[in-house]
Amino acid sequence: MTFVLLLVLAGLLWFSLRYAWWRPAASYRYPRILMYHMIAETCSGARFNGLRVAPGFFEKQLQWLSQQGWHSFTVSELVTQAEQLPEKSFAITFDDGYADNLLQALPLLKKYHCKATLYLVVDRFGRDWSIQRKAHHDEGELKREAKLSDEQVQEMLDSGCIELGSHSMTHANFSRLDTAAVSKELIDSRKALEERFGVPVHSFAYPFGLYRPEQIALVERAGFTSAVTTREGVEDAGSWDTLELQRIKISGKDNWLAFLLRMRGGRRGL
Ligand SMILES: [Zn+2]
Repeated sequence: MTFVLLLVLAGLLWFSLRYAWWRPAASYRYPRILMYHMIAETCSGARFNGLRVAPGFFEKQLQWLSQQGWHSFTVSELVTQAEQLPEKSFAITFDDGYADNLLQALPLLKKYHCKATLYLVVDRFGRDWSIQRKAHHDEGELKREAKLSDEQVQEMLDSGCIELGSHSMTHANFSRLDTAAVSKELIDSRKALEERFGVPVHSFAYPFGLYRPEQIALVERAGFTSAVTTREGVEDAGSWDTLELQRIKISGKDNWLAFLLRMRGGRRGL
């Protein structure tokens, strides 16, 4: 009997720590910036399944957002319209530039009248940037994943619902680079994207979410007006730091309850 009780208590404790259900809802005046990578089914045994949100799950999220009266914006729209945003504003972001963003995500974005910001790595072909973070991540999993060709990026932009942002030239790890190298990644990527696609590029996503505080000024100097991190949370758009925007991580490993709680509280568990 005592054992069963202990088991139940342990279960409750696990559930509470995982979902932090007691945390109050973050104000609906605080925009939610959602971070996605791939819209794809998970691959068994793959390391990066957290980055793969199944198309059916993505559609369920978009359907819920639209039914619950959430308003879709690009990141730059959130930043420039910060003073007049309605309650329940959100932005969808895609990092890296996977081909499924066009093949799987775009039709669903159109279906639910949603916008998104695509943070594209300029030199994204034949690279396994995961080793820039941890050398032992050398299975080539992300390298094998199909990336958007320039023509496919153009197709996304032609839809009218996609903002193009930069995710650096090579998905470099800024925490290991000096000022000159970081400036080059920032300036070259913005220039390359603007020249290649003929659109202004105002927003940046820090690769791996890694950077040193003194590098933030370099982002601004390179001409970006906003930058998103991988720090989880939501903030008041009236006072947020537009060069260190927090996001809500949408993971392929999460279930529906976890999604709802992240939308409510701005982040997962403790
Ligand atoms: Zn990335």
